[in-house]
Amino acid sequence: MPRFDDDGAQSSFPDLFPKLASGVPGVLFIYQQSADGLRYRYPFVSDRVRTLFGLEPEDLHRDGQVVSSVIHPEDIGGVAASITESARKLTPWQHQARMRLVNGDYHWFESDSVPELQADGSVLWYGQFNDIQPFKDLEFSLRESEAEFSFQAGFQKLIARLSSDFITCGFGNIDQSINRVLEAIGQFFGVDRAYLYRISDQRTEMTNTHEWSRDGVEPLIDTQQQVPIDTFTWWHQQIDQMVETNRLVFVENVAELPEEAGPEKALLTKQGVCSMFCVPVRTRGMVSGFFGVDSLSPREWRTDQADLLIIVSGLLSGVLERHRLEEELLNQSIRDPLTGLHNRRYLYPRLDEMIALWNREQQPFALALFDIDHFKVVNDTLGHLAGDYVLREFTGILLEHTRAMDVVARFGGEEFVVAFSATDSDAAGALVNRIIKKVRHYDFVVDGQKIPLTVSAGVAAVGGDDAADPTPEMLIGSADNRLYLAKEAGRDCFANASGPSRL
Ligand code: GH3
Ligand code: MG
Ligand code: MG
Repeated sequence: MPRFDDDGAQSSFPDLFPKLASGVPGVLFIYQQSADGLRYRYPFVSDRVRTLFGLEPEDLHRDGQVVSSVIHPEDIGGVAASITESARKLTPWQHQARMRLVNGDYHWFESDSVPELQADGSVLWYGQFNDIQPFKDLEFSLRESEAEFSFQAGFQKLIARLSSDFITCGFGNIDQSINRVLEAIGQFFGVDRAYLYRISDQRTEMTNTHEWSRDGVEPLIDTQQQVPIDTFTWWHQQIDQMVETNRLVFVENVAELPEEAGPEKALLTKQGVCSMFCVPVRTRGMVSGFFGVDSLSPREWRTDQADLLIIVSGLLSGVLERHRLEEELLNQSIRDPLTGLHNRRYLYPRLDEMIALWNREQQPFALALFDIDHFKVVNDTLGHLAGDYVLREFTGILLEHTRAMDVVARFGGEEFVVAFSATDSDAAGALVNRIIKKVRHYDFVVDGQKIPLTVSAGVAAVGGDDAADPTPEMLIGSADNRLYLAKEAGRDCFANASGPSRL
């Protein structure tokens, strides 16, 4: 029993070094490598080598090779190279490698040792192996949370950028903006496709309105127009759930879709889809479509992937809603509510465009101003609602006799303007005459009673007898003068630059 007195010098402790070494947390060692570098052994290794790795110190004394059995196969090359380097330069051997513990787990260990060249050319290293797994774990989780933080920050930045892009995007650029969002989101999440679908009101069909696909990935948008939903029972159920309960659809693995989703599985497989997310998009507070992403290869989604996609679909919903409101507002400002026709506000700029086309390319156009004859009588004898009915019926006749490129506008009470694009004065006269004839023979029926009605018109055209450099006001003014001539001539006819004509 050692005593704590002056005799307690080091020399009085037998086997001092192995005892001390066994108390050190790591493994202390002396490692020796022969001059030719072919043989190596551990002249000393502390007992911990047994408890940690299940190796016998005795074995290591004889042959260092045994240690390689506990080094991770991927790390053996690095260990050998670092020792060789330390032996060559006689610099400290400091290296990290995974080593297998008695329980089979691998832990990272760090070796720290100093080499010493011996007279016979061999090298001895004095040092230790230390378990640095706790540091590695810390480092790993730090790196992971750093990556997560930068992901979240990146996502927020992206959403902020996309939102402000939407706020500043002018009317009419909405499609490009949506396409930019799909691309940005697709790239950010590393998916292969990102898309937006609209579901028809009756939920009978769906249409792909916007799509982004990664380079080399086949776009599907052209094949996804008015796709009937009825043929896909399982998908129909998913759509119902999206619409009714705002549920998103997540298919982790297309190959594992339920049996009843046979046709869906076949189609998705044909499209190369391996995994997908679809999140409902709302307008007017109702689900009107969905936003989705496809992955063509198996992937592990983030645990919060759905939440992130819901944020994106919220952004898209906001944009679509704003777009709808803008369109509605625009429509309200340029359309007449009774007939649904365009109004003057819409007509004038379109006339400017037609005049510009005439000036630039000499493409002619003609303008007709119609006025229903004795319309006041209809109101006075049959009532205002009957008058409204006549206005709507007449609207139908005008639309029937015009093309999409023409402009049909309600100019005032019972006055209508038709701008016939790419039409000269003669052709316009013929068209106007057909309309007049149609009205003359049309069955306007009020309270079961057929009421006879006629219409008169004044026609003006660019070029010819009309001003060579017209303005919308000039054209309408001259059509109005000729309308007056037609009325003078007994109504139920039209007048152009050559005067009234009745056919
Ligand atoms: P003319 O053959 O000379 O054109 O005779 P008219 O009776 O058609 O002429 P006038 O321009 O005096 O009558 C137009 C009437 O159209 C007067 C107005 O009360 C009526 N009106 C204007 N807007 C509407 C409308 O939105 N609905 C109905 N029912 N009547 C309207
Ligand atoms: Mg009138
Ligand atoms: Mg009238």
